[in-house]
Amino acid sequence: MTSRKDRLFTGCGPKTCCEQRIVEVTTADVERIATALQIPETSVCSHDPDTPGRRVLARSPDGCSFLLALVDGSRRCGLGDLRPMACRTFPCSLEQGLVQVRDDARHCECRAWSLADVDLAEERAVLEAAVAETHAQLAR
Ligand code: SF4
Ligand code: SF4
Repeated sequence: MTSRKDRLFTGCGPKTCCEQRIVEVTTADVERIATALQIPETSVCSHDPDTPGRRVLARSPDGCSFLLALVDGSRRCGLGDLRPMACRTFPCSLEQGLVQVRDDARHCECRAWSLADVDLAEERAVLEAAVAETHAQLAR
């Protein structure tokens, strides 16, 4: 069943966050997307010129490369469930073991996010999976 957070995210037409945010990707994100779409990793991400070793999701002049513009003027994520962990966990983070709404999510112009928008158990599971992927990347 689709979570309330995913329904809110999918139904947001402006997708301002996908236009403006620079999304850091993990090695697992890149491999998962490149394999599923059968595209080279260089089409998925690029190296952040300001931070050695950091890779960010590919961008076009209109924002994220995977952001789709529909004929009604709204926008959707072209990756769906394949989107990177940083997108799947947005707008939450784990702070000292607690699920919280991130400070940068409070700048969303379309929605005032709160913990009432998320299923805490489901969100914790995704956040913990994201942390595990980051740790696995650091251990490589
Ligand atoms: S964070 Fe804001 S801009 Fe992004 S999809 Fe959600 S409501 Fe829309
Ligand atoms: S992958 Fe999807 S959710 Fe993430 S920034 Fe791009 S369009 Fe938005």
